[in-house]
Amino acid sequence: MLAGYAVHVEDSRGRRFPEPRHPYRNDFQRDRDRVIHARAFRRLEAKTQVFTRRYSDHFRNRLTHTIEVSQITRTIAGALGLNVDLAEALALVHDIGHPPFGHAGEKALDAAMRAHELFFDHNLHALRIVEDFEQRYAAFRGLNLTFEVREGIIKHSRDYDAAEHPELAEYLLDQRPPLEAQLIDLTDEIGYNTADLDDGYEAHLLTLDQIRASIPVFDRFFCEVERIYPDVADKLKFNETIRRVLNRLADDLISNTQARVKKAGIRNLGDVRRYGERLAAFSAEVDAERRQIKDFLYDNLYYSPSLAGEKEDAERIVTELFGFWMENPSALPWAYREKAEQESLPRVVCDYIAGMTDNFIIDQYEQHCGR
Ligand code: MG
Repeated sequence: MLAGYAVHVEDSRGRRFPEPRHPYRNDFQRDRDRVIHARAFRRLEAKTQVFTRRYSDHFRNRLTHTIEVSQITRTIAGALGLNVDLAEALALVHDIGHPPFGHAGEKALDAAMRAHELFFDHNLHALRIVEDFEQRYAAFRGLNLTFEVREGIIKHSRDYDAAEHPELAEYLLDQRPPLEAQLIDLTDEIGYNTADLDDGYEAHLLTLDQIRASIPVFDRFFCEVERIYPDVADKLKFNETIRRVLNRLADDLISNTQARVKKAGIRNLGDVRRYGERLAAFSAEVDAERRQIKDFLYDNLYYSPSLAGEKEDAERIVTELFGFWMENPSALPWAYREKAEQESLPRVVCDYIAGMTDNFIIDQYEQHCGR
């Protein structure tokens, strides 16, 4: 049963190009399936989340991260009485606009664009992918997703200013997104905070003592696990602890969002949209714990000296290739040369690079930059 404040699929604002109804899948289920069948979705498998392939095939890549976020999102959306199909579609599409090499690649691409007074934003890029770059249908370009999925792609993690982004006017920028979209940024963080602790520990870049000393919520659960399972291996104690941390974050997000919705007197989607702030949120206590995990990961993993060399390589590859195609646009593939007749060259080069997998961009670098 859907809550009154959920998005009801029969109230969807629909697709750009009307299509006949499917006999046994609703529109959000179809959108979820269209994302799964997209080329950009498959490419997530070869894009870095935190660790490149050099480390281990056990670690998360952007595809397995996305699947984990989708699992967490479905569970939480279901417990809140939200539209699980819409929430799942939004979780599966949430990282589709990310360039190769994780955060380092994104930073370098944005810097290259800023030299041309442009910028790179992965949410806006994701919208371009589903609206334009994916070509599967004879009748239209893009995936022809429903309004609610396109709106969620733009608004799940931040608000965009209507004056700065007139091209996004149709997405109700003066209103909050539905709760299904509000959840994504938080479930994304539940996913990567716990997974990155796991991968960082497994990679021996983080030690158990260090994690216990720096993250009180982890230490609390670890002590509990040690009392119940004193004789099992540390890695199993670690796994049991991570599981408890994840559950604490998820439980809190559910109960605190429910409490906020109730306190605000929210009855329907219109109330969610018109409310002055986002309603999906952790409680102050758990939000502080979430912040501790995140800060710890920034200080000890994301900026760790062990990953610094790869990040420098990533930034150099993106920067030099961007420069190469700016100087040699005739070396771009035909489809991009054609695009450059309607759009600025930096944007076209940026689109080309952003779509690449880690493997492909390394090949391109060796081919064009000769190393
Ligand atoms: Mg993510």
